[in-house]
Formats: sequence, C-alpha cells, structure tokens
Amino acid sequence: MPSVVYGATLSGVEAVRVGVEVDLLRRLPQVVMVGLPAPSVRESADRVRSAIVASGFEFPRQRVVVALAPADLRKEGTAFDLPIAVGILVEAKQVKAARAARYLFVGELSLSGELRPVRGTLAFAWLARAEGFTGVVVPAACAPEAALVEGIEVRAATSLAEVAAFLDEELELPLGVPRPCDPPAFAADLRDLRGQTGAREALEVAAAGGHNLLLEGPPGCGKTMLAARLPTILPRMTLAEALECTRIHSVAGLHAPDAGALQVRPFRAPHHSISAAGLVGGANLRPGEVTLAHNGVLFLDEFPEFPRGAREVLRGPLEDRRVVLARASGRVVLPAAFSLVAAANPCPCGNHGHPSRPCICPEAARERYRARLSGPLIDRIDLRIELLPIRPSELLGNEEGESSAVVRERVERARERQRARYADTVTCNAELRAEQVQEAAQADSKALSLLQTYLETGSASARVGRRLLKVARTLADLEGATRVRTDHVARAIGLRCDLDERGVA
Ligand SMILES: [Zn+2]
Repeated sequence: MPSVVYGATLSGVEAVRVGVEVDLLRRLPQVVMVGLPAPSVRESADRVRSAIVASGFEFPRQRVVVALAPADLRKEGTAFDLPIAVGILVEAKQVKAARAARYLFVGELSLSGELRPVRGTLAFAWLARAEGFTGVVVPAACAPEAALVEGIEVRAATSLAEVAAFLDEELELPLGVPRPCDPPAFAADLRDLRGQTGAREALEVAAAGGHNLLLEGPPGCGKTMLAARLPTILPRMTLAEALECTRIHSVAGLHAPDAGALQVRPFRAPHHSISAAGLVGGANLRPGEVTLAHNGVLFLDEFPEFPRGAREVLRGPLEDRRVVLARASGRVVLPAAFSLVAAANPCPCGNHGHPSRPCICPEAARERYRARLSGPLIDRIDLRIELLPIRPSELLGNEEGESSAVVRERVERARERQRARYADTVTCNAELRAEQVQEAAQADSKALSLLQTYLETGSASARVGRRLLKVARTLADLEGATRVRTDHVARAIGLRCDLDERGVA
C-alpha cells in the first residue's frame, strides 16, 4: 500500500490540494513522476535526491514512482519538493507515518536540504484549514505570512532534517507568528496636492460612491498624482479584504513572505503596451492587473493608447467584478473588484486647447483619439473631469489642502450610510441597478424637475439621468442628507457625468 502525503498547487489565486503518492518498486533505480507535473516539478527529483542524502538519510536504491493526484490538474512550482521528499522517507520507512498524514507540506528544497521560501503560502495555509488538516509545515521564512490565517497550526521549518525530526516526534517545530499589523503607511497624501479643487472633489465622490473616474487634461496637470491618492481616501480595508489582497499578491510573487498583511489598498498602473492577458490574467495562470488591483485602484494612464483588445477585455471585470479564465483543466475564477481611474490627454500630442503650446495633431488623428473615449467601457464611468494646465502660482502655493485622513473619514461615513440603506443588495451607489436608482435617490420634486429640464435641453437619455442621480446620491451621502436636493443634482451636472452622450467638443 503506497503512502500518500499532501502538498498543494496554485490555480488562479487559490491553492488546490494535491496528493503525493510514492511507490517503491524492485526495478532499476530511477525516479518516475506521473500526474501532469510541469517542468518545474519534474526538476524536483534531483533536488529531492540530494536533499535526502545531505540530510543523513538514504535515497532508495529502487524505482521511485511519484504519482500526483488529481491526475488531470497541472502541477506547477517548486513547493512540491517537501511533500515529495517526505513521501519518499515515509514509504522507505525512514520516518514515522502518523504525523505525515495530518499535515500539508509546502516548500522548495536546496541541494543541501535547506527549506526555501515559495510564493502563495497564505493560500496554502487557507487550504490546509479548509481541508481540515491539523496544520501546515512551511519554510520558516514564509511562516509569518501563513500564520495570518487563524485556526490552523503553522509549523516553521528550516530544513528537511528538522521536518523529519518533527515527524519522528523528536522535535516540536516552532509555531508561526504573524507580523503585527502596523497602521497603513501611505506614500502620498492629498494634502501635498495644490490646486485642482474640482478634481479633488471628483476624487472624493469617486471614493465615497465607488464610482469610476475619467480624468482628462494636458500632460503635467497632475492626473497620475491625483489617481495615486485615491487609495489613501478609500475606506480602510477590513481584515478579510486585507488577507484577500495579501493572498493574491503572494500568489503573484509580489509580497515579501515575512511582511505583515497588506494594509494599503493596491494601486496598479500598467503601461498602455500591456497585453490583454497581462490585464486580466492567463499567462501561466498568474493573476492579471485587474486581480492585482482587487479591493484597490486600477489606473490606466493615456487610456486611448491602450490597444482595442486590452480596452475590450476590461468590460467583463468592470461588470462582474471578477475574471473567468477558461483552462484545459476547467474554469478559473479570479476576483477583480477595483475602482477604475482612466486618464486621457486632449489629443495625441497633448497640447490641444493649451493657452500657449500649439497642437500639431491633424484633425483626423484628434478625432480618432477622442472616439476611443466612448463606447461600452466608458459607459461604466460615472465621473468625467477636465483638468486645466495648472498655474505655477497654484502649484507653489503655501496653502495646504485637506489631508487624506480627513477626507477618508467623510468617505467612510458616506459608505456606512450606503451599507445601511442597501443591506445586502449592492455595496455602493455606483453599483445600483437601473431599477433601484430612483428609490435610492429619494430626490425631492425640485431636484427631479431640474434633472428633467437638464436632460430635455441636452436631449440626453434616461441612462444619463440615472448616472447623474447616482452621483447626486453620493453627494447627499457625503453630507448625510436623506434626500437628493437640487444642489446635489446641480453639482452632479458640474461633475460632467453626461459628456459621453452629448459628444465631446
Ligand atoms: Zn495635439
């Protein structure tokens, strides 16, 4: 009866349990690996052999068959070294089997038997808890990350020899200790932005109602600086959100395993040369930018320069707040709930409308550029703000703006009101469905007639009306007002929520 030891592989941002079954046969010594191992897993045979010998054990002089199950799931990564080594030692009766069956094993081995960190440890610990294991044995360097998952024993080991002693109950491996959560340290603050009062308001409204935002203006007017400050005014992450983000970034290899949980909402700003797969994921099953931006902000600077394919793949995640990738081994679902900030220049050269710099773009090129700012994707953007070139006096003014912390407090209160109003149906105003908008807004009669007049004069559609009402609802929530009033509607109009339908001058 061959013995089974458990390891795991990453699929999307989740870990999947993999049984490592080892069988020793009286044939020529050789290691045979079956069950869709990727080349990185195949190479494990040599590392495991050296590590076992270097740790003072004997490598079996027999044919070693390692079967990975489920057989149809492709196994990636170097985290299988440890479960394979443990499986061989158990089958060769060089260590006791009892503990080996109750733990999940994760780790890469060096030729000398040391355990090396792997990416995705948080996901592995999560899996171990969900699957009812007593605990998970991980490389010591990864233990603080794995220990962020509560209710599972995380055992930190530095070498195969230590793991073997633990299995023989001669040594108790130390328990992993999570790094304490420091208060979030933001690299930027709204306070150090001068001027752009209109844009600051739009940023606050975007944060308070979960609205997507389009910033238009010439190069150098502060679009990137504004967008980068959105995470600093969004509500603080809950523990669950923080762990989810940490798990995603760990799987992507972007999180130091000895760091604490992520405290600051992610801000991702991919260049417009990115491929569709880079945006939504797919290459090597790694998460794409939309998943890395989950619970945070995706900033697409020079949005019209993104290739059509890349702009189109964003529709799905913007609508469904997740990405579904079709794989040979089945579907992989990745979370992708992010706030979108898109930015555009007035024209390809950036100078159109500038008081002193001439625009060199042919009119046709300018029109093509503008045309890319319409369509179904832009329909998901509630706020459009035009930024003017900033005056040197504004840039250098001594007057300090409000700090991110002050704005965030207002945003958090506004979000609280939305949560109370919508219970479980939606989480924020931006997500309101068409049939919910009217009731949620509770607009008074004067506000409704202002909206009506505005829509009729501009011959704008009911959809524009709903978008204006959603933004007006957020403005009311920021003030703590129960009903949407005329001034909220007027300010929503000022935030230019309807430009796309009237066409842009
Ligand atoms: Zn131009």
